[in-house]
Amino acid sequence: MSNAPAPFSPVTSLKLFNSLTRQLEAFEPVHAGEARVYSCGPTVYNYPHIGNMRAYVFADVLGRTLSFKGYKLSHVINITDVGHLTDDADAGEDKMEKMARAEARSIWDIAEHYKQAYWADVCALNIRQPARWTVATDYVPQMIEFAKSIADKHCYELDSGLYFDVSTVADYGRLARAHTDDGEGRIEAVEGKRNAADFAIWRKTPPGEKRQMEWDSPWGPGAPGWHLECSVMSGEVLGFPFDIHTGGIDHREIHHPNEIAQNQAFCCTNGLDLPANSGAKIWMHNNFLVERSGKMSKSSGEFLRLQLLIDKGYHPLAYRMMCLQAHYRSELEFSWDGLAAALTRLKRLVMAVEELNANASEPRPGQSEWWKEPFVRFDNAISDDLNTAVALTCMEEIVALKKQNRGERVVAVLEMDETLGLGLRHLSRADLRIRPKGVETTEAEIEAILARRKEARAAKDFARSDALRDELTAKGVDVMDGDPLGWEWKLA
Ligand code: AMP
Ligand code: ZN
Repeated sequence: MSNAPAPFSPVTSLKLFNSLTRQLEAFEPVHAGEARVYSCGPTVYNYPHIGNMRAYVFADVLGRTLSFKGYKLSHVINITDVGHLTDDADAGEDKMEKMARAEARSIWDIAEHYKQAYWADVCALNIRQPARWTVATDYVPQMIEFAKSIADKHCYELDSGLYFDVSTVADYGRLARAHTDDGEGRIEAVEGKRNAADFAIWRKTPPGEKRQMEWDSPWGPGAPGWHLECSVMSGEVLGFPFDIHTGGIDHREIHHPNEIAQNQAFCCTNGLDLPANSGAKIWMHNNFLVERSGKMSKSSGEFLRLQLLIDKGYHPLAYRMMCLQAHYRSELEFSWDGLAAALTRLKRLVMAVEELNANASEPRPGQSEWWKEPFVRFDNAISDDLNTAVALTCMEEIVALKKQNRGERVVAVLEMDETLGLGLRHLSRADLRIRPKGVETTEAEIEAILARRKEARAAKDFARSDALRDELTAKGVDVMDGDPLGWEWKLA
């Protein structure tokens, strides 16, 4: 669109909530003009549930916002394929090994299978590909080097592994607002640990055993600890200190305080009054997606995977819409009604863009003054710690500005959507109508019966019209007479 009006240049300063200081802070990059972001990624031992995916929708909106603000974004998401125990602290067994045993497959197979499943969900939710995916098992030599460099001053060896002594760094646990001595209850005792919160950075393979994934190290064969992995991959790729580290709110309690402690040890930095001493200037955490009946738990049989939503006839971007409607720091309750409402909202937008495009006049170069005001409000909202809920309404207002040039309205909506990521440029009404699993009827069949029903109604043959409706109901099709969105039918 060469004639398109000049894009809007954001002017508001970006403020983000730093979990470390529990305050909103202006984003000031470590390297001028750049934004370096690390997001804790999935442990690929099982399918992600939609709660996990909320964490990546949030990280994606953050990345898109930084791009909108003109920063050159370097975003890294890791894939954990070793070292994450069934308990975030040191208790339990490796999640990957446990699943490999349950499914009687090799860990490498398990990792590959669930990595692909995760990538499919990333694509379906319009999460942009980060600059780099880092896979933990690719970085083991660097993890060993990192551990060697901090071992003398900060670690001690037990039979089970090399442990980090949390009393050797200043302000341990500040992120969680916890103290080393609060840790008794939350961390299973390991005999010989100096402090309850001490954690293994290298887990030795017990004598006489062989793990599927193990490496030689100065402390014997074994595997890296999960916290060590993220410290190493973030520091290696982005360099300490980098700008922003993200994760779900559960990571605020154990995983990230432990990463911070390692980063302090590695960088020889002191207390956390200076947030950058933690290895990143800003630590951000999304709140949880919750579901009352426990369907979020991966151990609950049919748990809430994105594919389940699709199987029930919901477009995956309806779930993205659901996430955008809430602030990332608020708990979000999942319900099917809520998802249906989000889908309806998405349909309205898609139809509006289709309709604007179908009847668009050319945008008028240099005539786009009218959109400054809604764009400033959009900019203010997204700059206010990513207030996507308000930003969405700014986008919808543009659609509704009936007096304005249609071509310009489309340009403005699509530009805002670059940040929100609903993919309105490519989505069509037809895409949103997803066939629930098990429904066999084809669209041609449905349209043919509907056409006969229309004829019957035109001829005032209501008995026949009702019979045809019943026929459709039996095929799992809801007829939607008088639907305000002009949707004539949907698959039930
Ligand atoms: P995991 O694969 O278990 O390491 O989790 C991947 C990401 O999902 C992490 O950032 C978690 O903090 C996050 N997470 C886990 N459960 C939820 C949930 N119910 N809602 C939102 N984020 C979650
Ligand atoms: Zn991590």
